[in-house]
Amino acid sequence: MKTLINKRLLPTSTAGSLPKPAWLAEPEKLWSPWKLEGNELTEGKQDALRISLQEQKLAGIDIVSDGEQTRQHFVTTFIEHLNGVDFENRKTVKIRDRYDASVPTVVGPVSRQKSVFVEDAKFLRQQTTQPIKWALPGPMTMIDTLYDDHYKSREKLAWEFAKILNQEAKELEAVGVDIIQFDEPAFNVFFDDVNEWGIACLERAIEGLKCETAVHICYGYGIKANTDWKKTLGTEWRQYEEAFPKLQKSNIDIISLECHNSHVPMELLELIRGKKVMVGAIDVATNKIETPEEVADTLRKALQFVDADKLYPCTNCGMTPLSRQVARGKLSALSAGADIIRKELAAK
Ligand SMILES: [Zn+2]
Repeated sequence: MKTLINKRLLPTSTAGSLPKPAWLAEPEKLWSPWKLEGNELTEGKQDALRISLQEQKLAGIDIVSDGEQTRQHFVTTFIEHLNGVDFENRKTVKIRDRYDASVPTVVGPVSRQKSVFVEDAKFLRQQTTQPIKWALPGPMTMIDTLYDDHYKSREKLAWEFAKILNQEAKELEAVGVDIIQFDEPAFNVFFDDVNEWGIACLERAIEGLKCETAVHICYGYGIKANTDWKKTLGTEWRQYEEAFPKLQKSNIDIISLECHNSHVPMELLELIRGKKVMVGAIDVATNKIETPEEVADTLRKALQFVDADKLYPCTNCGMTPLSRQVARGKLSALSAGADIIRKELAAK
């Protein structure tokens, strides 16, 4: 499977979520509840997955995903399937040190009784021969989306989640997932924890995997709490600088980053030289569709610090909150932009 991914230079992919059809969940809204239930919901999710996959193919995306059509929330949907978490008993906590949210409580030892996403991944695998990527929440982002009334230690709880994620990841690998991605936006916030135990927990989550592994670290969806936060970060966003040295030495294969329209100085990528980098070349916080030339420009800048055979053009983050038409336009722009650079590299 690895040969498939590496066959083409600059393989394109998305960070994760894509818009859902209006008959499945209310569009242009984060964490929108399902409109169907029971068997209809199961079939509806599969139909939406097929459409999302087809749209990725038509746009020329090389590494495809389920567009997260089968989950409501990138963290909560996973946690819902675990023991030890009480969803009735909710507490308000500050997420990512940024905004208040009502979250479930950890009331006992956490464990996974059965697979969470494996059937969905198997279904995706049946639909395509292209390389597939599957996203899981990272351990640090999981603990940041909960109130812990049992372990009373962020590190201990993250370590328990890492073990559970590893079980799930091994099953995803077994059904043919080529890249398993862990979403860790919390890595851009809790720097001391990241370096003290966050990266160690991530490495525990990928222990023993033979497929490729990725970590997605972004500045979040285009929601108000995030755009307000970004305004406080100044003209240069150097958050990545904190975790990069240790990530460079980690066993993670790929690092997925937000680059386009962000204030991240591109030279920070030098700190992870040697890793494959999913370079976010599509802004998910605006409805304006990038031109292929704008995408190419971001990729060209990244090429100064990432070797061409390690550069994976991508989106900054998930596109759930966008309209389907805008998301389709952005996917096509990503492909077309990558194509410009492929031609430039071939002409050299
Ligand atoms: Zn993201």
